[in-house]
Formats: sequence, structure tokens, C-alpha cells
Amino acid sequence: MTQQTQTPMMKQYLEIKAQYTDAFLFFRLGDFYEMFFDDAKLAAQELEITLTGRGQGEDRIPMCGVPYHSADTYMSRLIEKGYKIALCEQVENPKHAKGVVKREVVKLLTPGTVMDGNIIKEKENNYLLALTMFDDRSYGLARTDLTTGECAVTLLIGEIEEVIHEIANSGAKELVVASTLDKTCLEQIEQRQLVTISYEDETTVDTNYAHLCESLQSDQLVQSFARLVNYLVRSQKRSLTHLQKVTYYSSDSFLKMDSHTKRNLELTESLREKKKAGSLLAVIDQTVTAMGGRLVKKWIDRPLLDQSLIEDRLSVVTSFTENFFGREELRDELRHVYDLERLAGRIAYGSVNARELVQLKRSLQQIPSIQARCQEIVPMKTDSWFKEEERMEEFLDLLERSLVDDPPISVTDGGMIKEGYNAELDTFRDASRNGKKWIAELEQKEKLETGIKTLKIGYNRVFGYYIEVTRANVHLLPEGRYERKQTLTNAERYITEELKEKESLILEAEEKMELLEYELFVEVREEAKRYLTYIQGLAHSISEIDVLAGFAKVSEDQRYVRPTFSNDRTIHIKEGRHPVVETVIKKGQYVANDVLMKQGRDMLLITGPNMAGKSTYMRQLALIAVMAQVGCYVPASEVELPIFDQVFTRIGAADDLASGQSTFMVEMLETRYALTKATENSLILLDEIGRGTSTYDGMALAQAIIEYIHDTIRAKTLFSTHYHELTQLDQSLVDLQNVHVSAVEENGKVVFLHKVVDGQADRSYGIYVAELAELPEAVTKRADALLKELESSSFSTKTQVKEEPAPGLQLTLFEEEQPQLKKKEKKGHAAADKIADKLLEKDVLHMTPIEAIQFVNELQRLLK
Ligand code: ADP
Repeated sequence: MTQQTQTPMMKQYLEIKAQYTDAFLFFRLGDFYEMFFDDAKLAAQELEITLTGRGQGEDRIPMCGVPYHSADTYMSRLIEKGYKIALCEQVENPKHAKGVVKREVVKLLTPGTVMDGNIIKEKENNYLLALTMFDDRSYGLARTDLTTGECAVTLLIGEIEEVIHEIANSGAKELVVASTLDKTCLEQIEQRQLVTISYEDETTVDTNYAHLCESLQSDQLVQSFARLVNYLVRSQKRSLTHLQKVTYYSSDSFLKMDSHTKRNLELTESLREKKKAGSLLAVIDQTVTAMGGRLVKKWIDRPLLDQSLIEDRLSVVTSFTENFFGREELRDELRHVYDLERLAGRIAYGSVNARELVQLKRSLQQIPSIQARCQEIVPMKTDSWFKEEERMEEFLDLLERSLVDDPPISVTDGGMIKEGYNAELDTFRDASRNGKKWIAELEQKEKLETGIKTLKIGYNRVFGYYIEVTRANVHLLPEGRYERKQTLTNAERYITEELKEKESLILEAEEKMELLEYELFVEVREEAKRYLTYIQGLAHSISEIDVLAGFAKVSEDQRYVRPTFSNDRTIHIKEGRHPVVETVIKKGQYVANDVLMKQGRDMLLITGPNMAGKSTYMRQLALIAVMAQVGCYVPASEVELPIFDQVFTRIGAADDLASGQSTFMVEMLETRYALTKATENSLILLDEIGRGTSTYDGMALAQAIIEYIHDTIRAKTLFSTHYHELTQLDQSLVDLQNVHVSAVEENGKVVFLHKVVDGQADRSYGIYVAELAELPEAVTKRADALLKELESSSFSTKTQVKEEPAPGLQLTLFEEEQPQLKKKEKKGHAAADKIADKLLEKDVLHMTPIEAIQFVNELQRLLK
């Protein structure tokens, strides 16, 4: 313990800090927030500010600080990096303090609970999650977005992996867990995404919030929500009246997609840059309000399963597409609606200012005409969107009467309340105005009487009002006319008794005015709280209208059609397009493709040159399915689809460097997840699975996986591969159909047609792609020669299943393996017999992928 830490203030600091060990303690000292010890070192590093110290020599303790008035930006930066901040203020006036000023933490700022600042993205929700594990292996997951008050809870039963996917999917910034939660479980969660962990052990719901979870059916759900709300109560230390009733959602009511699938399909952000641009969201989000922007993202994350709900959305889109002018006018009106949801949050929090209340007023004033327009275009939905009886004329009238049209952001400096709203305020205003008028008249009078034209009356905060005379004119003043107050280089400043009297009248009136204005404003703000539920309801309706009108717009612009749903699991897409790719390539260049999948062709095995469009074709199908289940029109000329329960997308050798696992292991883990979860009603896309290991290994696995899906899962599956050998599977698997993306050779150059047709591809065109990529000519020429050699060698004909030439891109693999294989050829025959026996013994169709790997491994050992 150094001397420094013994000072009363540092003792106070250390006591408070002990309660907030996982947060930066921003300790208010005059005009600064100071940090000490490790907090200071880390903050200095993260914020790139100077690390100083308090005290001397050995006693010196590390310290750094940020000015109070610009603290917001520093805090935002720390929160964005996932840190927490305990904001410790002086809670008594230092002038009246005996000893050390009393300080308290008034707020805990965390990534999941921030309400404003740069961190909150307009079109994104900021979710806070709470996870509760129960003894029966079920997991409660509660979430809220504090900026909007939305609350929801669900129960997941089964594997922790599913919970991890759900957490990763939510994009939450912060997760509240019990302090006793299993550490490995936490590590797994943290590996997947940047999420700040917070702890809360109390799971009995705070009585003030019990009413929010009345509708929850089980105790487990209530406990899950309780952990969340108790954490909020403890950390936020203020009103949470805007929290909405908790809704229960079952992940079974939505199309399930794990986090890999969402990422691979680039639903809400692009794979590489992790930006909205280049994602499905960027194409179909045509919303004009921030609330709509958040809702469309939510919808894409959770497409529906219930056909009638989907049709409900589609019907609205249809009405909007049929009424172009009405819709566009409606969208123009929506543009004037501010973020009602977040305004509601700020009203409840007591942080709303007058300017925002005026925004609320303007938004509410738009409602009648929006409602009327909806009545014209979508009469069937209008009643449920606008609840007539709850219209709030009275509140609007209050806002109109009380607040000026353009109030300042500050609520303590006056200038917010309208003339005529409060008689007392008007009297103060008159007094101040009259006083100022008197001063203006005095200036004129003094100019005349002294004959000094440059004489003026000014004001500053320190000296108040003064009469200023330039030095050159001072001699013109009659002796004793004014009392000298201040001497400047070029002028003298004076006061008079009368001026002083007027000054105190004016200042007193202004001070009272500001206080009274603040009181009146707070009254209005409190009144606004009574309308929270209505404003939230309205926010929801407006967002929905905005999203659906936006769907209609994009459907019209991009020539989408309304999808229909089949009961017999048939997929029939005519002239389908990839919604994102078609917008990034030249207009009219996208080659539309059909998809037909039904009995006899439930699985499509796709071969074709690299870069031909295999991945695009596969994703196109998944995206069309997602869009349809979101309730949007789809890019095709005709679409009939089943309603899928889950979509899985796996890409061979996907790099998952972030989680530090080997790529092939990741590939297999992901595939295992898909194979264990998928049902007959799922859609599986497997893109080059097996690529992450050696040729035979990979091919064997790919085949085993295809067979397993074909025989056991029976899900609709698209499987792309460069193993041409697999195309022979159509002989044994009745529901497998070969298709390929065509390419033609013209004058020695390959031209990709991007057209998917039945049958297998003839070759892989790897060398042509290498040429396209402008590899040195020497390399491509040599590769071409080698290919020809290989094609004519006995080895290559042996490995070829079809009469077509060997795939170009496998060249390197063959080169590596050939000598090895030759060496083994001698003892090969005996081993081959054994392998043949083993293969025949095995019930391959009922093997799990892992068993398949082990089996292949065993066969390999026989060869060594
Ligand atoms: P593969 O999976 O066969 O290697 P991709 O699906 O990645 O090929 O497609 C490669 C590129 O070809 C895409 O980035 C896109 O620009 C273009 N492409 C794919 N499909 C089409 C199509 N149907 N029409 C036009 N261009 C396409």
C-alpha cells in the first residue's frame, strides 16, 4: 500500500473499483473522468491517450483521463471494442461537501445496453442476451434491445451447439450468464463471435417487471427473462418502463439456418468484407425508415414456416405492386416518420430532449394520411395496423401548444417552450425582454447625451452588462457619470446603479425562465410516457408497412414474381436468378437457370468447369427459398417451392482461421451438424465437400455423404463437385440426377455459358481458368502438355470412370500421388483383395460420416 493509495480520495476510488472489476471505472474529478492503475494503462493503450501518474517516485500510480465534455467519443470507442464502463459521478455539490466529495456509479455502460452514441446503428438492433442452463439440458435464451424495448424469450432443447448457433445468429453484443456457467461452454461461444460476457445470478423476477412475463407459460422461460431484467435493473439504475411485454418465440416457427449457412449465403453481410453491401439484405432492403431497416434484417434472419403468414405478407406486397403511385406516395410520407421505436426508448429512459419530442410530433402528424393511404391500397390490413380508438389528439395538441418548432438539443438552457403556453413563463420573458429593451434604449440615450457615437453596451458572463467607451473618447465623458469597472487596452468599461439593477432583473428572470422551462418540459416528457405502448405499436406497424412496400418496390424494379408453395415437395423454378449476382454484373448479362427437383431428382450432382457458376446456381436456389419464406417476391419467371424447415450450406475447405480449427476438421464438423439435423423437408447445399483432404479420401467421403443423404435423410440436396467419378452414382441412386454447367471451347478459349443442363460435365477446364487468371504462359503450356501425357497414361485411364479426359485441376494431386502409388503396386494386389472384402462386408449406406472417415482410414492403412 503506497502513500498515494492511502489518501481519502484514492480509498474511495479503490472501494468503488472493487465493485466493478470487469469495467473501466470512469472516476469524475472536476472536469475530467480519471482512470488509475491497470484501467489507466489499458485505456491509454486502447484510446491512444497519454498515460500520466499521480504522486512521486515509488508512490506514483498510473493515471490517465478524458475531459468530461468529450468523454462520449472515448466511451463509444471502448464500448465498441467490447469493454464495459462504470460511470462514477460526484453526487453532491463539491462546495457543500465535508471531506471527500461523495461519488457513486450512476450507470454501467456495456455493449448490449448502450442507448446512444455512435455505437448504435440506425438500421440494426442492439441485442443483449441472457442464457440460462437448466438441469434437464434445456437452455433459456432471453433477449432485449434496450433502445426499442423489445423483449423475447425462447427455450432450446438438446445440444449446446444449437444454442451457440442461435447466439451467433442473433448478432448480440453482450451475453449475460450465471457466474457458475461452464467455462468451456463460454469459450465455445466466445470463439464464434465478439461478445462481452456479463454475470447475473438472480433468477427470480424483480416485482416491478413481473407483469411483463405474465403470458409466459413455463417457469423456465420466466427465469430466463428474470436473469436478463435483473441484470438490467442492477446495471442501468434507472427506469425501464419502455420494456415491452415479453414474447415467446420458438425457433421451430422459423426457417432454421445456422450461422455458417447465413454467412455462406451472405444474407445480411458479405462473406469477405462483412458489410451489408453485397448481401441479400442490401438488395431487398428498400426501407425508408430506420425501424423498417431493422425489421427487414430481422425477417431475413428468421424466415417463416407458416404458409398462411407468408401468404399474408405476400398479399400485401401484391397490393403494393399493383398500386405504383399510391405506394410511392406512401413511401414519401414514411420518410417523414422518425425512429418512433427508439424515441419511445428515450422517452421511457427520460433521456428524450425537446427536439426529439418535436420529431415525435411531426411523425404522429403523418399518421392520419399514412393510414388513409393504406386504407386505399391494403384495406385488409389497415385496421390491424392502426388502432383508431387509441389516436392521441390530446397528446399531439399538448406537443403542439408546448414546444417551439425548432428547440435546442440542450434541455437546461431554455428556448424550448412556446409563448402563451404558461403565463408565469411569459411574465419572466416579458421582464427579460423589457429589460433588454430598456438597455437598448439606454445605449441610444447615452450616445446622444455624451456625443460618443461608438459608445456601446455589452455583456459578458463575468462582469455582466457594461458600458464601453473607447480610450480615444474617454475624455469626453463628464466626471462621475459612470462607475469604472474594467480597463482594457483600447477601451474602458463602466457600470451605473441603474444598469446594475436592470441587470439583476434580467438575469433573475432568465434564470427563472430556464428553470421553469425545464420543469415544463419535464412535465411534457412525463406525459409522453403515458403513450409509450401506443407509440411502440405504431412503430411496429410503420416498420411492417415500410418493409412490405420496399419488397414491392424491389420486386417491380428487378422483375421478381410471387412464389407459390407446393405440397408435394416439388421445386420448380423457371428462369431463376441470383438476386445479388444479377445486380453486380452488367445488366442483361445474367443467365437465368431453371431448377427442377422432384421424385427421381431430389438430389442434383453438379459438375462443370470452375468459375462456371456452380456455387451461384446453388445459392440462387437457397436465396429464392429464403426470400419466399420471408414474404418477398423472388427473382425468376415462375416459382413453385415447398416450405423448407431448415437450410444448410457447407463449403469444402472453408477457412475458419478465427476459431483456430483445421480447415478440414471444420468442414467435417459443419457437415456432421448438417447431416444430424437435416430432415426430409430441409434444403442442403454442399459445395465441393471433401476437397479439404486427399483425392481418394475426399472422394470416398463425398460419395458416402451423398449416399447417406440420398438413402437416409432424403432432403433436397445440391452437391457440387469436381470429382467427375461421382457422376456414376446416378446409376445406383434413383433420386440423384447429374447436371452440369455448360462451357464451350471457341478458338482454343473456353467460354462459360453459365447454363445448367442435365447430364455430367465433360471436363474441368482448370487450365483455361489458369489462363484466364493470366498465369505465366510457360506454366499453362507445361500444364497442358502434362495433362495430355496424363490423359494417355495408363494411370489416368485407370482412374477415369467416364471416357472423358481427366480434370485439369487434379493435375497436382496426381503428380504427387503417382510415384507413391506405383511403389505400392507390388504389394497392391493382396491389399486390394482385402479391401474389396472389407468394402463388401460394410453396410456403407448406414455409416455416419465419422465412421466413414475411420473406415477409409483403415483401408488406407492396408495399403501402406
Ligand atoms: P463455380 O462455383 O462454378 O466455380 P461461381 O458460381 O463462383 O462458379 O461463379 C463464378 C462467376 O461467374 C460468378 O462470380 C459470376 O460473376 C459468374 N456467374 C455465375 N453464374 C452466372 C450466371 N448464371 N450468369 C452470369 N454470370 C454468372
